[in-house]
Amino acid sequence: MKSIDQHSFKGEKAIIRVDFNVPLDHQKNVTDNSRIEAAKSTILKIINDGGSCILMSHLGRPKGEDQDLSLKHLVKEIEKTLELEITFVPQVIGEKTLKAIKGLQKKEIILLENLRFHSEETSGDENFAKRLASYADCYVNDAFGTAHRSHASTAVIAKYFPNKKFAGHLLLKEVNSIQKIMDSGEKPVLGILGGAKVSSKITIIDNILDKVDNLIIGGGMAFTFIKALGGNIGKSICENDKTDLALSILEKAKQKKVSIYLPVDVVCGDDFSNEANTIEKEINNIPNGWEGMDVGPKSRKLFDKVINQSKTILWNGPVGVFELEKFSKGTIAIGKSIARSTRNGAFSLVGGGDSVSAVKKFNFEDKVSYVSTGGGAMLESLEGKILPGIKALMD
Ligand code: AMP
Repeated sequence: MKSIDQHSFKGEKAIIRVDFNVPLDHQKNVTDNSRIEAAKSTILKIINDGGSCILMSHLGRPKGEDQDLSLKHLVKEIEKTLELEITFVPQVIGEKTLKAIKGLQKKEIILLENLRFHSEETSGDENFAKRLASYADCYVNDAFGTAHRSHASTAVIAKYFPNKKFAGHLLLKEVNSIQKIMDSGEKPVLGILGGAKVSSKITIIDNILDKVDNLIIGGGMAFTFIKALGGNIGKSICENDKTDLALSILEKAKQKKVSIYLPVDVVCGDDFSNEANTIEKEINNIPNGWEGMDVGPKSRKLFDKVINQSKTILWNGPVGVFELEKFSKGTIAIGKSIARSTRNGAFSLVGGGDSVSAVKKFNFEDKVSYVSTGGGAMLESLEGKILPGIKALMD
């Protein structure tokens, strides 16, 4: 995969797939510009080289044209973030677009309309991809968040630029971070998996057992393991049809000499709310009518010790119901321990869904090495898949 840093874009038109799928409020204001911010360095590199940029993205999941999901709503925010003027073209394909592209001068930026107004984008239509490709001299993919999709603009288009397809800075940062966990991380490597269900994480567990030295399993999914081991879990969340699977994971870990750390104690609630009464119990001795909703103080101490000894750390999934303040201590403690290890030189990657929300909510974002911008794309990478958007840049 070639980086944009290996090329000068001087005098060239680059078509760049970015992920500007940002949240909007009722007035169509952007409420979180981090995805735009994340693409800034790639866009500026091309502009500073003396090239021009044709930005393309999707926004939401429109079924055909839908002005509520027009990229016109993003223009102000993009200009503010980039500190540059951009020109919005209210279509992806058509006369207006051709005219705008023909007149595009060096150091100028145009933004095309929402790619998903065309069903050909998600179906990966070759002709659609070819039309997009005809706009530019080279292709840059900086949309890690959609790299797990085989869409026209994320994967198919690349073949029209056999020698001029490049990975943007964001995409490279994501790929390098995953590689540090999967291939080149300093030992001991630790995985911390949490979240609600074993079933949604099973492929990840399977894959990372080959990569890590230690694995912490917390959150709701821990109870399926505890039940499988014969513990009483009260009314804690459990996938009864996955207890054999849990045992086979423990067995496999033993064979691979991976140490698994399950919580030893747990904060239980009598209701799934902040008003719940709480008790602390050994994890395998939860009374009927009580539900394990966070890891307890002994577990926090145990996990802290393991995290402290690790040089490479992956965190995916909260270890408790962190959305409820009463049950957020365990997840905050994990964040704190990872922050301290990172300060002491460990590499830490937080990726995939709710652990990212937790890190943002509790302000650990700047205290870990890298927070992934791609939910599904990160999860599929952790499952060991080569993402179509990345493969297309390598072929
Ligand atoms: P996931 O999307 O699989 O990573 O799951 C994240 C969700 O798991 C969050 O909404 C948490 O509230 C939830 N969760 C974490 N621990 C528990 C638990 N002990 N019981 C029920 N849900 C949990």
